[in-house]
Amino acid sequence: MYKRILLKISGEQLSGQHESGLDPEIAKWLANEVKQVTDSGTQVVIMVGGGNYVRGAQIAGHGIKRVTADQMGMLGTMMNALAVTDIFEEQGLPTRCLTNIFAEQVAEPFIHRLAEKHLERGRVVIVGGGSGRPYVTTDTAAVVLALEIDCDVVIKTTKVDGVYDSDPVQNPDANKFDSLTHQQAVENEQIKVMDKAAMGLAMEQDMSIVICCLEPSGNIAKVASGETVGTTIS
Ligand code: UDP
Repeated sequence: MYKRILLKISGEQLSGQHESGLDPEIAKWLANEVKQVTDSGTQVVIMVGGGNYVRGAQIAGHGIKRVTADQMGMLGTMMNALAVTDIFEEQGLPTRCLTNIFAEQVAEPFIHRLAEKHLERGRVVIVGGGSGRPYVTTDTAAVVLALEIDCDVVIKTTKVDGVYDSDPVQNPDANKFDSLTHQQAVENEQIKVMDKAAMGLAMEQDMSIVICCLEPSGNIAKVASGETVGTTIS
């Protein structure tokens, strides 16, 4: 069983069936998934994405600078973090939202020791604002955060149940990898499941990554308990 996990949830996953924005039913469902993990004694830190609102690289242009576009993206992650925190608490899961951008009126600043305190007290910590810096995504921010607060593993949930040698949605003959080395994940052009920058940092710092599906219920708890689910990159 892992002592502390970093869960990376994308904005797209939080939007569920909606085209954009956040589906509260998904967040409620996620609260129950995370509760299974915390009930068994594993601490949970969540980095939320913001792709359901803005992806900087996609909206930059037409007068909007890339830096500004990325800042808009980070604000999108904040909106997700705030909403998910409230919904988790409403579901009976003690949760705190910390922010990596200056936003004192809406959330506590991310301070390593403060995050530790919340985790030691049995609270889930949700971090908004990505890394606070442009030109990276929340995948990279997730790996940095996991290293910063000493998580045992980064779990990135996706639509499919792991890493394949080609897109399994388009190619029915695609083969799934049960495990990969960081080196293989970085070098293989077909593997796009996580940013190469995030993967490179994980390789350099020897941080394990598990890519798995959010569903069925209990999947995240299985990973947290050490069961082999999805694809492990280590
Ligand atoms: N972003 C950023 N720095 C960070 C994290 C995120 O600039 O450290 C911006 C970037 O524009 C990114 C957007 O916020 O595209 C939303 O994050 P991401 O694309 O990772 O969201 P996801 O695809 O996981 O929902």
